[in-house]
Amino acid sequence: MADVLIAGAGPVGLALALALHRRGIVARVLEKRDALSTASRASTFHPATSDALDELGVLAPLLPGGMRVDRILWRRGDTSATLALDVLADETRHPFRWHREQQYLTPALLAALPAGTVRFNAGVVACEQDATGVTLHAADGTTHRARHAVGCDGASGALRDLVGIAAETQDYAHRVLRILTPIDLRAHVPGLDGLAYLHADSGSCSLLRMPSNWRLIFRIPPEMSDDAAMDDTHARARIAAFLPSLRDMPIEGRDVYGVKRAMAVSYRAGRVMLAGDAAHLTNTRGGMNMNAGIHDAMTLAAALAQGDAALDHWAAARLRVVREALLPRTDARVSGGDEVARMAAMTRDEQRVWAREASMLDIARLGAA
Ligand SMILES: Cc1cc2nc3c(=O)[nH]c(=O)nc-3n(C[C@H](O)[C@H](O)[C@H](O)COP(=O)(O)OP(=O)(O)OC[C@H]3O[C@@H](n4cnc5c(N)ncnc54)[C@H](O)[C@@H]3O)c2cc1C
Repeated sequence: MADVLIAGAGPVGLALALALHRRGIVARVLEKRDALSTASRASTFHPATSDALDELGVLAPLLPGGMRVDRILWRRGDTSATLALDVLADETRHPFRWHREQQYLTPALLAALPAGTVRFNAGVVACEQDATGVTLHAADGTTHRARHAVGCDGASGALRDLVGIAAETQDYAHRVLRILTPIDLRAHVPGLDGLAYLHADSGSCSLLRMPSNWRLIFRIPPEMSDDAAMDDTHARARIAAFLPSLRDMPIEGRDVYGVKRAMAVSYRAGRVMLAGDAAHLTNTRGGMNMNAGIHDAMTLAAALAQGDAALDHWAAARLRVVREALLPRTDARVSGGDEVARMAAMTRDEQRVWAREASMLDIARLGAA
């Protein structure tokens, strides 16, 4: 019998299963789909997350083919600012961002787990709990029991709903247009390493270097349809506002996605806990939400190894992390303001504080027993 049941085999559920396994705690993961998701979503592993994945022994398989990003560039007209992430060298073994799609993390986590840990086609459909444990019923007709269960089942929050934890949810007004180009933008943007935030009167644009292409990310207004946003003339006008000489760049893909802000009102209901997207959703700028979910998982594994008081402490601490740090930080990144001038004026100590917060090094371990 498993000690802990986990709903969802995304990056958070699998990281939790492996962190428990490394502590000698047996986990069983129930996954709704018939295979791991290959959707193109998170792209960024921050230093605190690389430290955690290294502890779990799954950073090495993630490195080949990824992109190390040592510097961030901000630019508006002739003003620019650069921040070197080695300001964090005393605080992390990985003072850089690692750009790699999350779809490469989940197979690495799965491969490190004992065979049979994950049951596919087994979406959780019902939950009962009593004084000694939790019973989960899956869509394939199977029933599973353990001392604790954790909802890592993503934004839909099936287990969260089954145990009656409410979530405060709000759509951001803007949506995001993502354009992929195979050309190396470093040849066209002086000072660019692997990440830039470009500002102009018309708004801002992010440039992210991925292993096989660059992502250009723009906000689009609520009144514009997805089709209008992806229309070639519009897409090229947006590019030209920031990179005039690249208006006719080759484009190998484009999509539009909405962004939500959400927070479960509690991380715990009795023997059931929540982690990852089931507990929080943020704006994607800054690339924090999956990272924060992996931090939820690492700290929860430590608390589950301790007992009830540790779980209460964990649940309260992680809720505070979301309310007081994760959501305000990602909201601030939406509002922008005069970001370039602010970054250009920073002292090295101020840069270190900024980088620590942007990397979540200050909050990653909060809640660990
Ligand atoms: C375009 C985009 C870009 C992003 N970029 C970044 C980034 O750069 N950095 C970052 O940190 N984050 C980023 N994110 C967020 C990141 O993708 C998510 O935070 C991350 O996937 C959350 O992992 P999770 O395991 O909590 O949930 P998910 O990845 O959603 O996994 C949940 C799993 O649960 C399963 N499931 C659902 N219902 C049930 C059920 N009833 N029973 C059992 N299983 C169930 C699902 O099939 C799925 O496999 C991005 C998101 C998007 C959309």
